[in-house]
Amino acid sequence: MLNFELYNPTKLVFGKGQIEKLSELVPQGAKILLAYGGGSIFKNGIHQQVMDNLKGFEIVEFSGIEPNPHFETLMKAVAIVKEQNIDFILAVGGGSVIDGVKFISGAVHFDGNPIDILQKHILIKENAVPFGTVLTLPATGSEMNSGSVVTIAATQEKLAFGGSALFPQFSICDPTVIQSLPKRQLQNGVVDAFTHVMEQYLTYPHEGYLQDRIAEGILQTLIEVGPEVVEKPADYALASNFMWSCTMALNGLIQKGVPNDWATHMIGHELTALYGIDHARTLAIIGPNLYRVLFETKKEKLAQYGKRIFNLSGTVDEIANEAINKTVEFFHKMGMDTKLSQYTDDYSKTADFIVNRFDERGWKALGERQNITLEKLKEIVEMSY
Ligand code: NAP
Ligand code: FE
Repeated sequence: MLNFELYNPTKLVFGKGQIEKLSELVPQGAKILLAYGGGSIFKNGIHQQVMDNLKGFEIVEFSGIEPNPHFETLMKAVAIVKEQNIDFILAVGGGSVIDGVKFISGAVHFDGNPIDILQKHILIKENAVPFGTVLTLPATGSEMNSGSVVTIAATQEKLAFGGSALFPQFSICDPTVIQSLPKRQLQNGVVDAFTHVMEQYLTYPHEGYLQDRIAEGILQTLIEVGPEVVEKPADYALASNFMWSCTMALNGLIQKGVPNDWATHMIGHELTALYGIDHARTLAIIGPNLYRVLFETKKEKLAQYGKRIFNLSGTVDEIANEAINKTVEFFHKMGMDTKLSQYTDDYSKTADFIVNRFDERGWKALGERQNITLEKLKEIVEMSY
């Protein structure tokens, strides 16, 4: 196993009715920026619940953080935090609102142009504005990690950043909030979390036997509850297991001591930046083809996955191949289209565009073994058409 340090200061408050604890969790006397998205929290009553439980606090509202949050929008919030002497930010939303708040939190006291946080991948280790979250969409794990992804609309770049100062102080995860989610977003949540596990599990050489078993438990739970929760989001057993699986998939636990891939995410981000495809759907397009192109280095692990998750038998090559097919089958069952041409007609130059972009950024060797060269990248994207 690789050496590791585990640090996760986020207090997770999980369960029905837990939004009631807000007033105890927010620092007493804080002036709060309440940040949210396009208004779903008004329709499902979460805005009202939050306001009811923050009586007595001074609150400034910031709405309009879009899916795949834009740097340009977030900079408006940065100005408000500075002008209004905000002490604490409360993110109420899914991954986009939470990620957006992480950027705001890191940018307020950033010494320099905050665009560098994204373009130069600067780690935010101190001086972040403290924040908490009320999660409304299980998917990203952003409620219990210190990573974030922000889009620069002007250049159509979607870039990841993070740092140890960007963990939420607390996150309230009430599984009943998923009842108002459209089917498409529930499907996205399952596939995003599934792929998070795969990025940390389907790597080689990997000697995290315990990490493997935990990862497999999350994958099996998502396969078990995913198709059902989409149909019955009001079922509390399904909703709570779905929500907890998404948090566990990316709260740092299963990534410690093992190599991490993340290339599916890096390539997927480009598809969202270029075509506006939902994050999870880009992963369903790219992931299986990445496993195909990297077959030789990933096949031992694919075979373990095939045996333990899908009960497959045969030679290593046979099981590994069939395991990829089973993964695609699961994505289809979760309502995903897995080809780029099903989302856009304008795909023929995508591989060349992404290869050029990664080349310019110096991203010439991706994946846990740094063996995804620009040639392999081109093959993966072209296979995804
Ligand atoms: P999202 O972009 O936050 O939300 C998608 C849509 O769902 C929005 O229109 C939102 O409406 C709506 N919504 C949220 N909660 C709802 C509810 N309870 N009822 C009805 N509608 C609701 O989706 P997401 O999948 O959570 O986040 C995706 C983003 O996270 C991407 O940018 C992705 O790259 C990023 N990501 C981050 C990490 C990480 O570790 N930080 C990991 C993976 C992905 P409103 O606008 O009204 O809120
Ligand atoms: Fe993701």
